[in-house]
Amino acid sequence: MRIKFGFTIWKRYLHHSSPQKLNNWKKPVGFDTGISIYNYMIKKKVPLILNNKNIAKWYMCGPTVYDSAHIGHACTYTRFDIIRRILSEHFNINVICVMSITDIDDKIINRSSGSSQFSDWKELSKYYENEFNNDMKLLNIQSPYLNCRVTDYIPQIIDFINVLLEKNMAYVVNGSVYFKTLDCNLYDKFGKLDKKAINMDNPSERGEKKSSLDFALWKASKTIDEPSWKSPWGNGRPGWHIECSAMASFTLGSNIDIHSGGIDLMFPHHENEEAQSCCYHSTGQWINNWLHSGLLHLDDTKMSKSLNNTVTIRNMLDKYTPNQFRLLCLYTHYRSTIEFNEKTMDKAVALMKKFEYFYGDCKNYISGKLQANNIDEALIYDRLINAQVNIKNYLANDFGTPQVIEELSELVTVVNKMIVPSDPDSNNTTTGARSADCIAAVSQYVDKVLKSFGIVNSQEVILANDDKINQIVDTLVNFRSTIRNKALKDFKDQQQKELLTICDDARKNLSDCGIKIKDFKDNSTWTILEK
Ligand SMILES: [Zn+2]
Repeated sequence: MRIKFGFTIWKRYLHHSSPQKLNNWKKPVGFDTGISIYNYMIKKKVPLILNNKNIAKWYMCGPTVYDSAHIGHACTYTRFDIIRRILSEHFNINVICVMSITDIDDKIINRSSGSSQFSDWKELSKYYENEFNNDMKLLNIQSPYLNCRVTDYIPQIIDFINVLLEKNMAYVVNGSVYFKTLDCNLYDKFGKLDKKAINMDNPSERGEKKSSLDFALWKASKTIDEPSWKSPWGNGRPGWHIECSAMASFTLGSNIDIHSGGIDLMFPHHENEEAQSCCYHSTGQWINNWLHSGLLHLDDTKMSKSLNNTVTIRNMLDKYTPNQFRLLCLYTHYRSTIEFNEKTMDKAVALMKKFEYFYGDCKNYISGKLQANNIDEALIYDRLINAQVNIKNYLANDFGTPQVIEELSELVTVVNKMIVPSDPDSNNTTTGARSADCIAAVSQYVDKVLKSFGIVNSQEVILANDDKINQIVDTLVNFRSTIRNKALKDFKDQQQKELLTICDDARKNLSDCGIKIKDFKDNSTWTILEK
């Protein structure tokens, strides 16, 4: 897998390489997807060009499995899941996604020592890895093609470090190995993602390292009890940054289309990954496109385990549905900060309800349960075609999902204004021209786009689970509607009040089960809402 360059060739390569050229992002040669994405190195949007037609090799920094995942993780992985779905559903790209699982780390060791719940670090990391995978399933996040667990790739990591030592890009001190960022800097590879990094060496923080920016490739064991692996430099374990470089290089190669992570990983993690991987592969550019997602703020504060203000995914899902959380991720841009609070979630909840009521109303109109005579087919078709063109353009422009949601919401508003119950006493209530195909086309399109982003249509899921439910609810709603109509027409005063109270109670009880009844003058319709 790795390209073996002799030291002489490597020196010659460095001699002939222009530092300026290596420092800048180089536009890849390959297949233009028609998508433009924001590039942090040159601070502007660039074409997304893939090495192979319709294939995107994507490496994703995964979790360190030492605790329950929180909604910051949910936000990052949901946003990348949406982009992954956009690439495949809207641009016909096969995405080969590989994700890391850091299952050995200081935090894992510290958490497991003295733990009453776990016998050792392996048990702890396995527990939280399983929990993480289950959380991702609950959020409807697609599994990566491959999960790379660090402890399964120790030989490849050692091999990677050996090559860096052979190339004189690393040095050994007391059984630990460090990457030489200062030497790397000579060739303008370090500071690619964050130019400030070049001047960040602080002599007082060097310790045994030659520069405070140098980072551990291999950490020598401090005690005999520590989990460790044999290496040419003594017992120890890999550093964090080398894990991703080695696993990504081993699985996806020397030039990768996309590498993603939260914006907080850009420096030092991704900077270090790119520097050491460029040295290992003897290339000026290892990753062609970096994708960084904005962080999640909880009541205006960054959420992190160190600040002790985290909300776990399970806690969030007690209150909101995966669809509602996904809509929050959709109506904000993936690079922007997400504010998670009651107000922003209320907006997501309201949007989800708007779409669900819309599906229900369309279905009721098409089946004839809901009468409406003011449907302007030409206008609806015109808006639908416009929306289709605009949505493709928004998605091609750095995955502009907020504009897509806005466009869909406006389309729904246009149709909603027309699907209003007509006067049942008017002559053309049942005989007027109907526009079922037009309403069905819009409803299907909205559903198709939201599904392509991973939003599940709960009506379909619930009705698919039991085809009798539809019939039972219909019977129940019609029975209630008959009682209500009779109460309004044939009863008065106390008796009427009592019957209407019974009907209201039935509506409320069904509402608690997610079945929302809308009463009209002569009849009632119903829709399923997920929450
Ligand atoms: Zn990583």
